[in-house]
This record gives sequence, structure tokens and C-alpha cells, in this order.
Amino acid sequence: MRDFARREIAPHSLEWDEAQHFPIELVPRLAALGLMGITISQQYGGAEMGILDFVIIIEELARVDGGVALSVAAHNALCASHIFRFGAQDQKKKYLPALAAGGSVGAWALTEPGFGSHAAGIQTRARLEGGFWVLNGAKSFTTHGSCGDIFVVMASTSPEQGGRGITAFLIEKGTPGLTSGKKENKLGCRASDTAGLTLEDCRIPEGNVLGKAGEGLTAALQILEGGRISMAAMAVGIGQGSLDCALKYSKEREQFGRPISDFQGVQFKLAQMESRLQAARWLTYRAAWLQDSQRRCTLESSVAKYVASEAAVWVGEQAVQIHGGYGYLKDYPAEKYWRDSKVCTLGEGTSEIQKIIIARELLHSQ
Ligand SMILES: Cc1cc2nc3c(=O)[nH]c(=O)nc-3n(C[C@H](O)[C@H](O)[C@H](O)COP(=O)(O)OP(=O)(O)OC[C@H]3O[C@@H](n4cnc5c(N)ncnc54)[C@H](O)[C@@H]3O)c2cc1C
Repeated sequence: MRDFARREIAPHSLEWDEAQHFPIELVPRLAALGLMGITISQQYGGAEMGILDFVIIIEELARVDGGVALSVAAHNALCASHIFRFGAQDQKKKYLPALAAGGSVGAWALTEPGFGSHAAGIQTRARLEGGFWVLNGAKSFTTHGSCGDIFVVMASTSPEQGGRGITAFLIEKGTPGLTSGKKENKLGCRASDTAGLTLEDCRIPEGNVLGKAGEGLTAALQILEGGRISMAAMAVGIGQGSLDCALKYSKEREQFGRPISDFQGVQFKLAQMESRLQAARWLTYRAAWLQDSQRRCTLESSVAKYVASEAAVWVGEQAVQIHGGYGYLKDYPAEKYWRDSKVCTLGEGTSEIQKIIIARELLHSQ
């Protein structure tokens, strides 16, 4: 993974970032390595790797480019994983081989303009009409919203039941009534495609329900548990990228007649960066291992996500500081790592939402 990321991604990273280019040309090469169906079983064309493997893959991608890591993470941990874990046999046969082979890019749409953290309140509606589901509503921040081929979309089928009335649906690109909004102009992870979706009398066959009607939110929350581990891995990778470049620069840059790495003030920063990253990495690996062992890991995945994402932002800022004024320029990678890191405290539940989950787990297990 490290060789691949350095060879195939690193040389283009800044260019993709500046142009906000989603590297669709990279998808066949990702697929050849099994990265488009990482945990999907071989029966459906996947690589059948474990969650710990997945985490290391995301970490190494993010160490070079947060945007590519975000896309691979969302395609696998959100879209493909939702279909693999909750789909019917015929749905898995229909969609997973193309997702794993890189023929289709997956998207997963829960967030709406008015409902982010409060996911149970989503307003997109689906009603059954003559053997078809008819969907109306809007989604925001969908990773691969403009370039995706297959969309897992959460909508309310029984609004009076709140979160218990939410159902997941499979919608193919090109379905009349499904349109992508403008591609968002983001702070970081700019190589990843993010866009809103509009559903206007979007008619899909009755059989496109993913899982059971009314169980879409429960499934989505389980999917997000894995998503949080992947976001933690992304944070560890981005943080490591920051530390790598800060370490290198500190040995090259001279002030007062010696490398800045000779100054204890700089050394302390490097030591703290390494320590926070080690803690974040082991928390992430532990959460992944628990999920691989099919054990409950709600607390551990939120702890890993919270600690790793906050660490990545902090480490990213230290890396910019170690670069001095040059850290503020795009000529050096430090500023991009810092920008890329910020999404980790936002996506798949903000840091505040992680703290709510952690506290709830603590209080309920007493
Ligand atoms: C690059 C990117 C990619 C994304 N990809 C996807 C995707 O593929 N699919 C998808 O469905 N979503 C995606 N998201 C959306 C993401 O999950 C949401 O942005 C996130 O859940 C937060 O929702 P929000 O932006 O509406 O913020 P809000 O929920 O409006 O939160 C605003 C602020 O209020 C705080 N807050 C909210 N509620 C509470 C509370 N109860 N207590 C304390 N503080 C609170 C939040 O922590 C935050 O600081 C993506 C987001 C980004 C930035």
C-alpha cells in the first residue's frame, strides 16, 4: 500500500487538490489491488480482507492523500458495506461485483441540509405507489454525489415513527428524478467528490429496499460504527503524513547556524506529535480488531475516532508551525495535511457527537 500510494498518488496529490479533481482514472488501479471491495467476500468479487487490513490501507492512503483515502473509505465502509451486510442475495449479486471491480463508484446518503447530527430527523420521504417507491427530498455532503453510480439513500417511509420509520434504498445513477447538485468547494480532501442530491418524484422498483423497511436508521448507525473506524484510520494516516514532513523539514532547515531539530522546543513538538499519533493508532487498531472479532465496539470506535481526529488536526498544526512561514505555502505539504485533517472531526459524526456516544456508553454500562 505504501509503495502504491507513493508511486501512483503522491506525484499527483497537489494537482488533484488544486483542481479539485476526483481521480476516476485511479479507480481501475485501486480495484486491481482489491481496494474497491476490501471487506466484501470473494463470492461477490471482493478482496475479503479484515477490518484491520482495511484500516491499514486507509492509513497508508491518507498518509499521502486524504482525498483519495476519504473516497476509498466511503465507497467501502459506507456504500459497499451497507449492501454487503444488509442486502438481499439478488441485490448483492447485482451490485457488489461491479463495485468491487471498480466499474461502479458507490455513494451513501444520510445527511440532509437541515439534518446532520440529528440523523433521525431526516425529511426525505418515500411512498409506495403502484409497485414503485417514489422518493422526494434533498441530501447534502454525499461523498461521490456527482460521480457515483450506485447510491444508498436513507428516506422516511413512516414519518410518524421518527427514526424507526427510516428505510434504506438502492438507487442507480440515471434514474429519472435523481439529480446531483453542485460539487462542493472544500477546505481539504479536495480530490474526493462531495455533492448534494435532489430526489424529485424519483421512482424506483419496490424491490430496491435495502434491508427491511423501517430498519434503515438502525442499519445506518451500525454502518457508521465501521465508518468511524475508517475515519480514525484516515486521521492517523493524515497525522503521520504531517509528522513525516515536519521531521524531514526540521532536519533540513537551519537557523542560528544549526538544524532547527537541534532546538529542544522543536524536539518537544515532534515528541508530542509522535506520542499522540501512537495513542491514536493503537486505539484505532484495537477498535478494528474488536470489529474483526465480531465484538461490540460502539465505545471503542467512537473513542478511536474522537482521539485520532483531534490528534490529526493538532499534529497538522504543529507541522505547519515547524515549517515556519513555509508551512503557510503550498510549496510544502504541511498546509494540505492540516486542511485534510479537519474533515475527520466532522464526518461520520462530529467530535461532539462522539463525546455524546462515549458518555452514553459509559453511563449505560454502569
Ligand atoms: C467532506 C465530507 C464528506 C461527507 N460525506 C458524507 C457522506 O458520504 N454521506 C453522508 O450522509 N454524510 C456525509 N457527510 C456529512 C457529515 O456526516 C455531516 O457533516 C456531519 O454529520 C455533521 O452534520 P452537519 O454538517 O449538518 O452539522 P450539524 O449537525 O449542524 O452540527 C453543527 C455543530 O453543532 C454541533 N452539535 C450538533 N448537535 C449537537 C449536540 N446534540 N450536542 C453538542 N453539539 C452538537 C456539531 O458537533 C457541530 O459542531 C460528509 C461531510 C463532509 C464534510
